[in-house]
Amino acid sequence: MKESKINISVVIPIYNEEENVALLYESITKVMSKLKNSYEIIMVDDGSKDKTLSILRAIQKKDFHLRVIKFRGNFGQSAAMAAGFEAARGENVVAMDGDLQNDPNDIPMLLKKLDEGYDVVSGWRKNRKDKLILRKLPSKIANRIICSVTGVELHDTGCSLKAFRKEVIKRISLYGELHRFIPALAKLEGAKITEVVVNHRARKFGESKYNITRTFRVIMDLTSLNLFIKHLRNPLRFFGGLALVSMFFAILATILAGTIWLNSSYDISSFNILLTLIFLMIVTTFQFLFIGLLAALIVHTGKKKLFYLVDTQLK
Ligand code: UDP
Ligand code: MG
Repeated sequence: MKESKINISVVIPIYNEEENVALLYESITKVMSKLKNSYEIIMVDDGSKDKTLSILRAIQKKDFHLRVIKFRGNFGQSAAMAAGFEAARGENVVAMDGDLQNDPNDIPMLLKKLDEGYDVVSGWRKNRKDKLILRKLPSKIANRIICSVTGVELHDTGCSLKAFRKEVIKRISLYGELHRFIPALAKLEGAKITEVVVNHRARKFGESKYNITRTFRVIMDLTSLNLFIKHLRNPLRFFGGLALVSMFFAILATILAGTIWLNSSYDISSFNILLTLIFLMIVTTFQFLFIGLLAALIVHTGKKKLFYLVDTQLK
């Protein structure tokens, strides 16, 4: 198949979903074949320990639309999605979960929105089928915080069912739990973002890979994302600011030390402390400057980092 010919790539991270993958493959195929667009389904096996991979390999033998990426271990949902996005050849890229909670029948609706000119279409599980206290409530709170920090107003950033224009998703690098913040990261790229209400179903087979501790990890990532968003384009300005602050204290301490030096009625013991402080502040000033320079260098010359390892063996 020629690269330029593929219109839609469906990317799915999969970890221990042996009861779901075949059903999922079938329902996606049903939807995609009706669309009459060229497509590929990329399933990223995130180091499954059950029969997931062998089931996928068996399907792959019969249908060239399915591509399977096998990880050498369990690197997490974000890494699996990142690998799928990296491999995707379609002009439009759809992401969804591998546990049948998202409904492939919603895909045409998301694609229609992309055709209308949006770069990111995010699903909104308005009628979400998960536990209230353990899942829906923490997710709602997290969503509120994420929206106010990132400035992207969506009802349900955590929904995995999303569609992207290739140019946008290819520029985003994911690690930690960052897949939750794709819309915010896309906004950095100047993306036009919208949401549509999608169907959500209870998990029938297998179990959720997460528990309540995820909320804390998400908040941690959010903090780093916030710094990232603010300073990504110009880290030298941020660290330069810190350098200025320590330089200010160095100058202040020098003036104080000078006053003590000239006026011997002051307690001479505070003079030593001041000298140490001056020395410390000068060192810190240079440290911040160099960190800022290094960060600027990385931002401007660095390549996308890989947070996963692909296993190229077929078995
Ligand atoms: N997943 C993954 N690697 C992991 C954990 C999860 O690839 O380490 C996949 C999982 O198989 C599913 C999707 O990510 O396709 C979402 O996971 P899950 O359904 O457990 O999350 P929940 O819907 O409970 O938030
Ligand atoms: Mg799920």
